[in-house]
Amino acid sequence: MKYILVTGGVISGIGKGIIASSVGTILKSCGLHVTAIKIDPYINIDAGTFSPYEHVVPHITDAIQDWVMKQAKISVDDDGVEPQVCVIELGGTVGDIESMPFIEAFRQFQFKVKRENFCNIHVSLIPQPNTTGEHKTKPTQNSVRELRGLGLSADLIMCRCSAALDASVKEKISMFCHVEPTQVICVQDVSSVYKVPLLLEAQGVVDYLCQRLNLPVEMRARKML
Ligand code: ADP
Repeated sequence: MKYILVTGGVISGIGKGIIASSVGTILKSCGLHVTAIKIDPYINIDAGTFSPYEHVVPHITDAIQDWVMKQAKISVDDDGVEPQVCVIELGGTVGDIESMPFIEAFRQFQFKVKRENFCNIHVSLIPQPNTTGEHKTKPTQNSVRELRGLGLSADLIMCRCSAALDASVKEKISMFCHVEPTQVICVQDVSSVYKVPLLLEAQGVVDYLCQRLNLPVEMRARKML
């Protein structure tokens, strides 16, 4: 099973859901069986029902990992085939107190399932203030650093922006966020969200994920997209 965790930075409502489903769509078009999990980071614990000998935190992170592995195996296709890829959208913004147990669970999870089976897509915002019209990368640099501080490294940085980014902006993000320029993906505002999978494919997201996760996709299937 391959796991793709989609996290968000800077602000909520940035387009994580659209990006997570677009990634699933392009992988499905390569013939892979794909499932998805959406996590809304709310935890509801009644301390009164616990034994005083229980310590909550390790149980939460273990329970999250077990639940993810269990859910990922459930077929979502009519043919009943077990999924090969699970796209997990973690709601909220990295650094939010309520998502911390989930971030920690996935920090541990990446080692449990091994590097070739887990990758992270971090969705961030590149604002373009009217005053200068420049694309500003600092909020993204900060959120990638915060994510790394919590033990997760972005494999793909998906930059939400109003207009397409110049190569120089991608290079700057690459330089300060510790990734190659090809790992910086521009997801500008489009007239229909159904165009987002095409934007991702045009920037090599399928090729990157196939190599990074060693996905069983033939070159021919990728070219047919
Ligand atoms: P999140 O999951 O981060 O809360 P959503 O995926 O629900 O964000 O997207 C928030 C809103 O932004 C939705 O109305 C969605 O249709 C819109 N949206 C997302 N990506 C784009 C895009 N590239 N261009 C235009 N609208 C977008």
